[in-house]
Amino acid sequence: MTRVRFSVHRTVGEARLLAGTLESEGMSVEVRGEALVPLTGEIPSGETWVELWLWPGDVEQARAVMAQLQERQEAAALEVECPACHEANPGNFELCWSCGLELPSGLRPRLRAV
Ligand SMILES: [Zn+2]
Repeated sequence: MTRVRFSVHRTVGEARLLAGTLESEGMSVEVRGEALVPLTGEIPSGETWVELWLWPGDVEQARAVMAQLQERQEAAALEVECPACHEANPGNFELCWSCGLELPSGLRPRLRAV
């Protein structure tokens, strides 16, 4: 049985985050290409990447895990306004950081102004 390439990442950090999450779900992850990434220096875009390789039987579960991870990251990039005190909360918060109100799930998040 040979491993299949599951994903390609432009940064080691991004690859490590996903690999760590998949490993915590009990999957065996092989990270390839990491040694090729120099620690310093300018890298022409597109020439550096890190790949995650999985056993074929893990791919389906890994896709679900990756989708969840992306959903959480997207939620964190959004903000919702507290209906009580009108403070802006990160989209992944369940309670208002300011007044402690439980944020209704039906609130419409908007992109956080950074
Ligand atoms: Zn509030």
